Amino acid sequence: MASVDLEKPFDYVVVGGGTAGLVIANRLSEDSNVRVLVVEAGADRSTDPLVLCPGLVAGLYGKDEYDWNFISAPQPTLNNRVINQARGKMLGGSSALNFLMLVYPSKGNIDAWAALGNEGWDFDSLAPYLRKFATVHTPPQSSKDLCGLTYHNEDLAKGDGPIHVTFSEGYNVTNQAWLKTFAGQGLEVTTDPRDGRALGAFQNQASIDPVTHTRSYAASGYYSPEVAKRPNLVVLTETLVNKIIFDTTGDEPVATGVEILTKDGEKKQISANLEVILSAGALQSPQILELSGIGSKDILEKHNIPVIVENPNVGESMQDHPIVCQSFEVADTTPSGDVLRDPNVLNALIGMYQSSGAGPLGQSTISVAYSPLVDGSGIVSAEAKKELLASHEKTLTTPDAQAIKKLVESSDEATFQFLLFPTQVSIPDTPKSMAEYILPALPENYITVMTILNHPFSRGSVHISSPDVRAAPVWDPKYNSNPLDMELLARGVEFVERIVDPSTPFGQLLKQGGKRQPEGLVATDLEKAKEIVRKRQISVFHVSGSCAMKPKEQGGVVDTRLRVYGTKRLRVVDASVFPLEPVGNIQSVVYAVAEKAADLIKEDRKAL
Ligand SMILES: Cc1cc2nc3c(=O)[nH]c(=O)nc-3n(C[C@H](O)[C@H](O)[C@H](O)COP(=O)(O)OP(=O)(O)OC[C@H]3O[C@@H](n4cnc5c(N)ncnc54)[C@H](O)[C@@H]3O)c2cc1C
Repeated sequence: MASVDLEKPFDYVVVGGGTAGLVIANRLSEDSNVRVLVVEAGADRSTDPLVLCPGLVAGLYGKDEYDWNFISAPQPTLNNRVINQARGKMLGGSSALNFLMLVYPSKGNIDAWAALGNEGWDFDSLAPYLRKFATVHTPPQSSKDLCGLTYHNEDLAKGDGPIHVTFSEGYNVTNQAWLKTFAGQGLEVTTDPRDGRALGAFQNQASIDPVTHTRSYAASGYYSPEVAKRPNLVVLTETLVNKIIFDTTGDEPVATGVEILTKDGEKKQISANLEVILSAGALQSPQILELSGIGSKDILEKHNIPVIVENPNVGESMQDHPIVCQSFEVADTTPSGDVLRDPNVLNALIGMYQSSGAGPLGQSTISVAYSPLVDGSGIVSAEAKKELLASHEKTLTTPDAQAIKKLVESSDEATFQFLLFPTQVSIPDTPKSMAEYILPALPENYITVMTILNHPFSRGSVHISSPDVRAAPVWDPKYNSNPLDMELLARGVEFVERIVDPSTPFGQLLKQGGKRQPEGLVATDLEKAKEIVRKRQISVFHVSGSCAMKPKEQGGVVDTRLRVYGTKRLRVVDASVFPLEPVGNIQSVVYAVAEKAADLIKEDRKAL
């Protein structure tokens, strides 16, 4: 790094070498005539076994060298518990420590982005980019034998993108029973979810390279050793961006570069001839905007930051999927990841993985189901749904809320995502890190059924707590602050009883009369289900929307070309721009949005 001339201006400076940031850096530096700099706070950990081995991910959480480890403000609707939020602090960002699930957004959901005033952001416009980032591999015969996968359409474009997407060789009877049990509830996927329509259970893919059995993520894919050789691409790691620098002499502030803080504590300024692209993620892109003087006047003045552009929308409209985790003790012969608590088992599996990549550590065995609104009686009728929504109509005043209402009303859209997670989940009131959620604390073996609300109505916020970039911003997700979210989530929790019932193939894999978490609490009615939500809801780590792409008067921070309102030569490209949280796990949408953004930036350069 010593040989890099930081005095010489770059064309583009990308702030944050995470999931979206590395896509942008890769695509812009395809043109050897432009000079691109990425500034990443964390280190390059792309040869670290804890990052590469899918099954060792828990070893990353809470450690300062990998994880920003955010803690929320206390949540009044969750018994005042605080919620942990892991975030990747390394090259590749959160794609370096996520759970590798690869699912696709729904058509109705992305079409709603366009309907909210974002022309050019409907599903059909995003679809080519949902193909571009990935290479989708043919399922292995063993997974077809166990899980059917008849909905997987081999004729859909497989793509040749940098991220490998594959089915596992390691599914087991729990995955099989999951699929059968949902089918028994009339919830079986029949079309390929990549096409934007999926209702029912299906075996999702994962971002794992099927040859090396290693994590396929932004750093391995978009900053491969070959890309790293490009002389026009410089990646500066272990360096913080303090703020964006503006020229304020014209009619609108123009971003001209960034101020960085090196790991030795030295401040430096770096110039960007063409643009600064902010890709620091949904908790830190708004932080950097505020530190740079873009945000609410009150917040900036409180921290003595000169106001460059007043926009109170910065850091607002924060969305996150709430997830309720119920763990069930398994029968003695049912597989559970909890066996990894035994160091002998873990060491044997590490040995197997190291010698040939074989075994469960190289696989992802989480299963998915999407459903419309369901409750303890099954699928909720259109009339009952209408009645429930109508009883909360007075809280649905924004265009966002009306768009979500339409999605919940639709019989084609998934209100819930249910997940089968192969280990127990513990939920302490004050977790120190994400590891406390997933490392086995209880002596019995469990599997966990997770209930996720795809379209939360509640909106949270994230704002600076200090003018120093090193101080974590205050993240307040305000879960269930719209009470309709609690009503919906509790109904999903009631439905779980149908899945774990001893009469179902899934229920038969659980220990009859065995323990469950939360202990002794069964969702036999809505009130009990709400109690379960209060005790067992955490985050799915899908924070988004804090610099939303929307008309400014509707809460927007960026326009449809992702340019920050009131500025020139400054964009945000990461999950913070999502106007509405996508269905399911969101990395596919982060990659696709970043791919599309790279094309927009290239187009705008041609027009200069
Ligand atoms: C624990 C966990 C599990 C998840 N599991 C899944 C899953 O299974 N499937 C799925 O689809 N999605 C999953 N996700 C979500 C998905 O991984 C993220 O939504 C996505 O990676 C976010 O991408 P991003 O570009 O917005 O931000 P990030 O990838 O987080 O990138 C932001 C980058 O900016 C850097 N940065 C921040 N501040 C500064 C600064 N001041 N200066 C310089 N650099 C800075 C950070 O270090 C980071 O590298 C998970 C997320 C987490 C945290």
